Amino acid sequence: SAAAAQARSAQIEAAIAHDPSGFRVLTGDRPTGALHLGHLMATLDSRVRLQDAGVEVVLVVADYQVITDRDDAGNLPAVVRDVVLDYLAAGIDPERSTVFTHSAVPALNQLLLPFLSLVTVAELERNPTVKAEAVAAERRQGRGMSGLLFTYPVHQAADILFCHGNLVPVGPDQLPHLETTRTVARRFNQRYAAAAPYFPEPEALLTPSLTVLGDDGAKMSKSRGNALELRATEDETVRYFRRARTDSERHITFDPDRRPEVANLLRIGAHFAGTTPDALAESVGAAGAGRLKAVVTDAVVEGLRPLRARRRALAADGHAVVADVLARGTMRANEVADRTLADVHELMGTMYP
Ligand code: ATP
Ligand code: MG
Repeated sequence: SAAAAQARSAQIEAAIAHDPSGFRVLTGDRPTGALHLGHLMATLDSRVRLQDAGVEVVLVVADYQVITDRDDAGNLPAVVRDVVLDYLAAGIDPERSTVFTHSAVPALNQLLLPFLSLVTVAELERNPTVKAEAVAAERRQGRGMSGLLFTYPVHQAADILFCHGNLVPVGPDQLPHLETTRTVARRFNQRYAAAAPYFPEPEALLTPSLTVLGDDGAKMSKSRGNALELRATEDETVRYFRRARTDSERHITFDPDRRPEVANLLRIGAHFAGTTPDALAESVGAAGAGRLKAVVTDAVVEGLRPLRARRRALAADGHAVVADVLARGTMRANEVADRTLADVHELMGTMYP
């Protein structure tokens, strides 16, 4: 349950503060567009925090997963480059963290075959996140769920277990996915490694269920065209918040249920100004939405200034920096995946002289 995961996550945070060395975090993004403010606030900042705390962080740029819910993967080389630049600009350090593209690690995908044998169709059918994504794909593409989408949680198990990841930052909606990974690990161990468990049963590090809204009041999303990209210029940022939706009430209050758009601006402003939404609402008060937008714009422009400066400097280097980071990350991921696959063959008895 979410409450249990919450309590366990607090324990894990305490354990990390004490000794981060036993933890390996696996997480990543689908390269469907440059990263935006929602990614930074909900995931990217906390990945950097974990890395800086000494946890090993492995980031998969999940390029194969782009085709789970769309026919046209877009300009993958350009988008992958954007995502990697966003990682680096946000503070991911390729000396300490591993960044790789999914398609470049074939041994990882070989784990799918045995893993698929460890789950039943009925179990996959019960996964609520798969159900929700199937509905979304149906709406977008007007056809039934593909086998790729249906088996998505098993792919995720391979992504996590290939490097023996034992900690996965997830929002509450992703908990069912992780349950599949835990099931796969447990059953693999029961079947092939009864004497000494081989795969860890990864745990969730529950991220706060924070949804950042876009300028139209809906969830900020790469594909909705309502996002403030991290790489946007100052002018674009000013215009973005000028057109952001608010409401007709003059006095600014933090009331997420009744006033979601205003609450969203307050959360964003508070995040970058190092205050709370309530305190920010108090300070704007009767000055109204115009004042609120000005305050939020300043906070975001200031808060993102170092990230954007780093990103521009990295991008000015052409493709060299990104190519180098991916080459190193992919090499490291391949070494790990090859070793895991060899172990799996050994355990399953499919290692031939
Ligand atoms: P797409 O439109 O292609 O689905 P997206 O912008 O919704 O892209 P995803 O790649 O689906 O981004 O999101 C990856 C993860 O980033 C999510 O699981 C979630 O944790 C986080 N995230 C994305 N958008 C937001 C948002 N608006 N608020 C909070 N978290 C977000
Ligand atoms: Mg999405």
